[in-house]
Parts: sequence; structure tokens; C-alpha cells
Amino acid sequence: MTKMLKNYAADAWGAASGGLQPVRSAVNGEVVAQTGSQGLDFKGMLEHARGVGGPALRAMTFHARARMIKALAEVIMARKEELYALSASTGATRTDGWIDIEGGAGTLFTMSSKGRRELPDDVVLVDGELEPIGKRGTFVGQHVYTSLQGVAVHINAFNFPVWGMLEKLGPTLLAGVPAIVKPASATGYVTEAAFRILIEAGVLPPGALQLIVGQVGDLLDHLTCQDVVSFTGSAETALKLQSHPAIGREGVRFIAERDSLNATLLAPDAGPGTPEFDLFVREVASEMTIKAGQKCTAIRRALVPAAHIQAAEDAIKARLAKVVVGDPAIEGVTMGALASLGQLKDVREKARQLSADARLVFGDIDHVDARMGEGGEGAFISPLLFRADTPWTSERVHDVEAFGPVSTLMPYRDLDDAIALANRGKGSLVLSAFTYDPATARRLILGAAAFHGRIVLIDRDCARESTGHGSPLPMLVHGGPGRAGGGEEMGGVRGVKHYMQRSALQGSPRTLSAIVNRWLPGAPQPIGEAHPFRQRFGELDVGYTLKTPARTVTLEDIEHFAAFTGDTFYAHMDEEAAAANPFFPGRVAHGYLILSFAAGLFVDPAPGPVLANYGLDALRFLKPLSPGEAIRVELTVKDKTARNPEYGEVRWAVKVLSAADETVATYDLLTMNAL
Ligand code: NAP
Repeated sequence: MTKMLKNYAADAWGAASGGLQPVRSAVNGEVVAQTGSQGLDFKGMLEHARGVGGPALRAMTFHARARMIKALAEVIMARKEELYALSASTGATRTDGWIDIEGGAGTLFTMSSKGRRELPDDVVLVDGELEPIGKRGTFVGQHVYTSLQGVAVHINAFNFPVWGMLEKLGPTLLAGVPAIVKPASATGYVTEAAFRILIEAGVLPPGALQLIVGQVGDLLDHLTCQDVVSFTGSAETALKLQSHPAIGREGVRFIAERDSLNATLLAPDAGPGTPEFDLFVREVASEMTIKAGQKCTAIRRALVPAAHIQAAEDAIKARLAKVVVGDPAIEGVTMGALASLGQLKDVREKARQLSADARLVFGDIDHVDARMGEGGEGAFISPLLFRADTPWTSERVHDVEAFGPVSTLMPYRDLDDAIALANRGKGSLVLSAFTYDPATARRLILGAAAFHGRIVLIDRDCARESTGHGSPLPMLVHGGPGRAGGGEEMGGVRGVKHYMQRSALQGSPRTLSAIVNRWLPGAPQPIGEAHPFRQRFGELDVGYTLKTPARTVTLEDIEHFAAFTGDTFYAHMDEEAAAANPFFPGRVAHGYLILSFAAGLFVDPAPGPVLANYGLDALRFLKPLSPGEAIRVELTVKDKTARNPEYGEVRWAVKVLSAADETVATYDLLTMNAL
């Protein structure tokens, strides 16, 4: 049945006013959808996002946005079968669909949990520590991130219609920025269905998301400095969009994820008979066939020591011989179709270009024995393995991306030669290496990391848990230099920052502290009647401080502590040896004794809102404490993060001072406090 795709503009669904384009099934060529965006008010969509969606999202804290993203992931999972059903027409097997659909939801789940664990329950993100500027500490610097006030325009490739949308939406929404999604036309019907599920979840504020199923009209003409274009697709389209006058003129952020001649490397230590050799063979074959090789991260070049190239070729061919190409709906099929007949034509053409520089050792460019259902024409192709025996004189194998099940095997002389060949792709998304020798791995990283966005080192110890060469992960950056586009996506909270502006704030600690909602050194430290441990989470103000009385640390205390804990290190026990040490004037108190006495000074013992001490951060012992010296403590509420409806985390700045007001120790104490 043909589906009439709709655009979603200004919180309403609407079909194009004309100019519809048919989209065909990859499996049998039947028209599955009509797509188009004629008649859309593109400028109005941008204005709606900026005027309605942006303010609503920015009014939510990172934690509220993270909870919303989790709800979106849940609804995709709850309705995943609807998406699997559509995904089959794109030529995807169930496994391919799993990567796209459940992988997409998983990416949102990860972003949500990172947002709640690593970002504040606030709208301003502090970047790094306070920078002291003035000598007296009254003028300081602090970097912060705030949300961009524009729109994220996401232009996606056809290969992962669900994941491609969700991996960009997670960081964008977490940053508090509305998005306009424009999927690739060939598989946009799957994206449209997933997008509809997101809207029907009812958790997004108005204006947060809009969808264009067709051309982008004059959208780019109206972009401003607060907007971001995040593009995934071919280098050719990226160049066209990047040179759009408005993008240059307005300084619009442009993130490009382009094609990439990714390489894998069988290291010199990993010859036939080693586990790494078998792992390499398996990885090359599966990277060629998952998603019929239509992955920007797929292995396009496999580098093998010259002595082992025949063994590698034979082993990979043996695996490829087991691949069953055909309609993914048919039992036993292990590799589906390319996304369209257009793609099939393109891949064949690129494979012919490769054959001018390399020998085809497996497969047939023009014929495949595909298992098919009734009638029609599907975009099927066999896996194609090439071999280039003179890789330094074969230009195309390092330059032509056939976006299908196509890889080229090539020999190298030594590790330096392999590194130089890997880097000849002029910048890639991912490089993998199969080695059990850490020294080889380090040499590889030093020689190649600058050219590759992600490097996977696979050996017998990690293979079982390895996520493989081709899987970008939400907590790691995805993107690469040069040919790969120079962009970076995901990487946990790093990806969120692509949709925020970093500003360097300068001012007094009091002002900056109020802006970031965190006590900064030099900001006021009000002291009240109530002990801070008697105040509930909601009652504690940032900056609220307890100053304790002093306590003298005696030699007897030190000896008692040493005997009690067993820590009889000479610096605490032996006057002469301690004095000979460059750090100590003689015997000194244990650092842990100072911490324990500090707790004894600031703790309020009776049951109350403080539920648990769960750790210390950034502990430093700054001045040794001699027997007979006194210490006192300043305990200040540094910041607070609600964790759940019952309790929240309080971060306390603790300063231990000597009688002469020298800082003996500083640290952050973390407690869980009842709301
Ligand atoms: P493409 O032809 O460049 O299309 C990418 C997107 O750009 C599609 O949504 C397309 O829409 C849109 N587009 C094309 N011309 C446009 C224009 N003038 N203005 C605005 N939008 C325009 O790439 P593709 O064929 O879909 O994807 C395959 C390529 O993407 C491969 O080379 C692959 O390596 C690369 N890729 C890279 C990554 C990565 O993360 N680095 C991931 C996946 C794919 P229409 O479909 O409507 O034309």
C-alpha cells in the first residue's frame, strides 16, 4: 500500500501541495510512499522553532529534558514492530533493523542517563574550574555553556532512517534546542513513522520538532548565527550545503558527517593461527554484509601483511560464500538489498571504477543469485571483494567509496607502510586493528590517530565484548577529520555542547556564583543559626557555611591513630626520618587523621536529613600538620543536584585550616540529603 507522507510544520501534519515523488521498495520495486514538501512555509518553520520550541525547551532543566528523551526512547521501543515492518521494504534484515531501530532507542536511553548523571538540574553548564585573575580574588573567570537560541537543522542519510534521526535528536534536545528533521527521501517513510511515534508520545513541548519529507526549499536562506546544520551524507552534498551563502555569511555552525574510506589492519603479529587473524577475517566479512555494506563506518580497505594476504583472502572468501542474499522476509537470508535501484546503479558504477585499480576476487558486479519473493525488481548485489596488490599505485582504492558490500584487500610491507596506507584515506571515521601486541598498538596510535575519528583495537581478550569496527556508540565520538567531514557527533555530553555556546564570564565571585548556581571561591559564605546537617535538601542555600571551632592534634592522637589503623608510615612515627624527607619538618599527622578529625568537627550526629556520605572529590593535602597544631573547618554548600523524589546530592566545599589560617587540606564532600 502506498503511503502519503506528511510534513510536520508548526505542530501540524500536512501533505505537500504537489510535486510528489514516488519512493520504491528496495526489495521488489513497488511504490511504497509518495513524498514531497512543496508548499511548506520553510521560513515560518524556522520562526516557529525559534519563537515557540526554543523558549519551551530552554525553560526545562537538563534533567527535565533528559527525562523527556527517555520517554521518547521508551515509546520507540514500545512501538518498534511498526518500524520493523516498514524497515523491511528498505532492504534491511531484522539484524539491520535492530541496529537502526533499537540502536536508535538505545542511543536516546544513553543520552538520557548521561544527561541526568553528568549534567546539572539547571540550564547553565559550567565548563572547567574557576580561573583566578585578580591577585585579591575579587575578579575571576568562569567558562559556561548556554543553549543556542536557534534551530538545529538535521539533514540525514538514507542508510539508518531511525538511528540517524535519533542520534542527532538526543544531544540536540538535551541542549534545549528545537530541531527540524529532513530525512533522505529513499527511506524517509521509516523516519516519518518514527517521527510520528515521537510526536504521539505527547512529551515534547510545542515547536520542539518539525519534519520535512522532501526538498528543503528556501530553508537554508533564512538561517542565522544561532542555528546549526548537522548533515550526514555524501561529500558532494556536504560541499554544496557548506558553500550556501547564508551559512558562510551568518557563520552558521555546520557539522558534516561524510563518506569515509575506513580501513582495518591485521597487525604483523597476527598471522594465520592466531585468534586475532580469525577475528579479523570475521570482522571484514561481517562489515561487508551488515546492512549490505551501507554503513558510513564499514570497512572499505583491509590491510594485511604481504606474507599473509593469500591466507586472508581465502579465509574471507570462505565466509562470504556462506552469505545468502535476498528478500529479508525469506527465511535464511543473511544479507538484504541496497536501499534503492539508484543505489544499486551507483554501487555497480563505483565497483567498476575500483576494478580499474584492483582485481575482483569474490562476487559479480552485475549478477547475484538472490532469493526473492513474487515479481518485481529488487536492489540486490553480491558481496564484492577486491584485491589491490600494488596499493601505492592504486589511487581509486583509497578514494572511491562504493556504498555497498564492497571492500578491497591490500598487502603492506611493515607497520609504517600499513600506517601510511591507512592514512591515505585522507581522514576517516574509523580504523580498526587486530593485534595482541600493545607496543604495536601504541605505534599505530601515534602514527594514525590524527587521521581517524575512532580507533578500535581488537584482540582475543576483548573480542567477545567488542562492539566491532562499524558501530558508533552514543558515549563515544562519531566523526572524523578530512574526508570524513571534520565533524563530531555524540560522545556523550560532548555532543550536547555542539548545540550550546561556550562563553567566558568575567566578574566578581558573588555575581558569577549566582549565575552558575554554584558557590565559587570568594563568593559570600553566609552563616546561619541552623547547622547545615539539620537542613533538608530544599532548605540548603548554595554558599551556606558552617565554621567549626578548632581542635588541637597531639602527638598522642597521631600515635593512637597509627596503632589503631596500622598506618605506621615513618613520616608519622620517626622524627629523624621524617625530618630527612623534603616535604616534612619532622613527624606529621596522617592525612586520613586530618580528614577524620575534620568530619568530627563538622558532623552533626543525630539522625536528620543527611542520609549518607558517598565520597570525596579533588582531595589535596596542602600543608603538613605538626603535632600540637590546631585545625578548624569551613564547610560550604557548593552545589546541589536532585536525584529522585526522595533525595538529592549535596556537594560541599571543605577547607581545613590551621590556627594561622593556612590551608591544610581541601576537598569536595558528597552527601545524599533528604528532599
Ligand atoms: P546524499 O545524497 O548526500 O544525501 C544526504 C541527505 O542530503 C539526504 O537527506 C538528501 O535528501 C539531502 N540533500 C541532498 N541534496 C540536498 C540539497 N541540495 N539541499 C538539502 N539537502 C540535500 O547522501 P546519501 O546518498 O543519502 O547517503 C550516502 C552517503 O552518506 C554515503 O557516502 C555515506 O558514506 C554517507 N554517510 C555518512 C555517515 C557519517 O556518519 N559520516 C553516515 C551515513 C552515511 P534527498 O534524499 O531528499 O535527496
